[in-house]
Amino acid sequence: MTSNPKFIVDTNVGKLAKWLRMMGYDALFFDGSDDSQMVAAALSEGRVILTRDTQIMRRRVVTSGQLKVILIRGDEPERQMRQVVETLNLDCQFRPFAICLECNQPLVARTKQQVQDRVPPYVFQTQSQYMECPACRRIYWRGTHWQAMNKKLEKFIKG
Ligand SMILES: [Zn+2]
Repeated sequence: MTSNPKFIVDTNVGKLAKWLRMMGYDALFFDGSDDSQMVAAALSEGRVILTRDTQIMRRRVVTSGQLKVILIRGDEPERQMRQVVETLNLDCQFRPFAICLECNQPLVARTKQQVQDRVPPYVFQTQSQYMECPACRRIYWRGTHWQAMNKKLEKFIKG
């Protein structure tokens, strides 16, 4: 298995997209209703499909092994994440500064000066590392929010 898989996350397991992004994985959220579109995107971009839809498993591209699909079993996001991590033997490091949690774009480093007018004064005084999403312009920094998410992710994965 490739060391840095990319994903396409079906609506029925949509919460996984954000968790995978927190781990630094490219995880596209599929909110369409036509499975064929999702399959086509996965094939052309080399993405692993995460879904609860058993119909997809019967497709020829899947049974032939051309397309990798993980059929998610559990109901809780914790179990779902653990299944993905175990199936692909993922590196479960927390990489909050890699991918925008909202739009799945790779983040770009910014200097303090570049974000000065766009973050709260307290943050500006205490944080020195910033990243920006080129798509939605959201600015990320390490703070208590990230620490809380990190803890939650650890719990998710280690159980
Ligand atoms: Zn964004």
